[in-house]
Amino acid sequence: MIDRPDRTASADSDAMPPAATDRTATVSEIAAATGTPAFSIATLMQEVARQEHPTGALYVVATPIGNTADITLRALNLLSLVDAVACEDTRNTGHLLTRYGLHKTLIAAHQHNEREVAERLIERLQAGQRIALVSDAGTPAVSDPGARIVDAVRTAGLRVIPLPGASAAITALSASGLLDAQFHFAGFLPSKAAQRDTALMALRGMTAALVFYEAPHRIADTVAAMQMHFEPTRQIVFARELTKLFEELHRCPLAEAGSWLAAGGHREKGEYVVIVEGAPVDVDSDRIEADRVLTILMAQCPLKQAAALAALITGQKKNALYERALALKDAT
Ligand code: SAM
Repeated sequence: MIDRPDRTASADSDAMPPAATDRTATVSEIAAATGTPAFSIATLMQEVARQEHPTGALYVVATPIGNTADITLRALNLLSLVDAVACEDTRNTGHLLTRYGLHKTLIAAHQHNEREVAERLIERLQAGQRIALVSDAGTPAVSDPGARIVDAVRTAGLRVIPLPGASAAITALSASGLLDAQFHFAGFLPSKAAQRDTALMALRGMTAALVFYEAPHRIADTVAAMQMHFEPTRQIVFARELTKLFEELHRCPLAEAGSWLAAGGHREKGEYVVIVEGAPVDVDSDRIEADRVLTILMAQCPLKQAAALAALITGQKKNALYERALALKDAT
C-alpha cells in the first residue's frame, strides 16, 4: 500500500505537464517534466527509517479517527519498530495494525488499569524497550486514557516522545469555518442533567469557541440543554462521522439545531464533535442572563408575558426585555 507513488501534485503547479486528461499528474510525471528528483512514499519511508528512534522511550502515537489512511509515515515506521504497543482495546488495535501488515505484542492499557500497567511499562522501558502508546482512535490522553501512564513514565525519569496525528477536535475545528480567535476544549459534558447544566452555565460567558465530544444517544439532550444556556443566535457546528463514509458537517444557529438533528433518523447514530461559537465579546453578564431566561420563557408563553416574567426573575427592565425578546424572535 505505501509503495505507491504520491499522486498529489506539488505546490509548483506552473511547472506541471499540461493536463491532457482530468487525472492528477503523478509525482514521477511531475519530476520528469520539471527535472526535479522523484520522491515516492517508499523513499520518504526510507528517510523516516533513518531518523533516530531512541530505545527506553514511550512513544505516544496518534491513530486515525475513522479513515485508516490517516496515519503518518512516522507512525507506521515507529509501530513497526516498537517492542510492544500499549492500547485501550487490544482487539481494536490488533485490527488496525493488521490493516498495516503489522503484528505486535499488545498490552491492554485502559482507564481501569492505567496505574498498574504504567509500572509494567516502566520495567520494560528501563530494560531498553521501545513502547508505543495508542488509544482506540485519535490522540491518546485527549478524552482518552494515557495521561496517567505518561505522567508515571516521565516521573520515572524516562523519555516520552509524541507522534502527532489525527484528533477529532482539531479536525472538526479546521472545517468549522468559525472565526473565533480561540477555542476551549470542553470534551465530554457530564451525563447527569444537573451536572451538565452546571458545566454549561460555567461556559456561557466564555468568548472562545467551545468544543465538545458527545455520544450519539445523548446528542439531542445535550443540544436542548445548550439551547437553554446559550444565546439562540450563536452558531453551532455538528461534525459527524469525520473522515468516514457518511461524514456530515453542518452549521446553523443554535435555535435550529434541534430540528436539524430530528430531520434524519440516522443522526441519532455516529460519532460527533459539537462546536458552539463563543459568547459575543460585547455582551455583558446581564444580557447573557436575560437571553437565557427569555429563551426558556419564550418557548412556554407569549412574548409579553415572557418579558414580564423575565423582569421579575432578573430584576431587569420589562421594556428592555420585551425589545430583546423581539430581537431573539427575529433571529430565529
Ligand atoms: N482521543 C480522541 C481524539 O483525539 O479525538 C477522542 C477519543 S473520545 C473517547 C471519542 C470521541 O471523540 C467520540 O465520542 C466523538 O465525540 C469524538 N470522535 C472520535 N472520532 C470521531 C469522528 N470520526 N467523527 C466525529 N467525532 C469523533
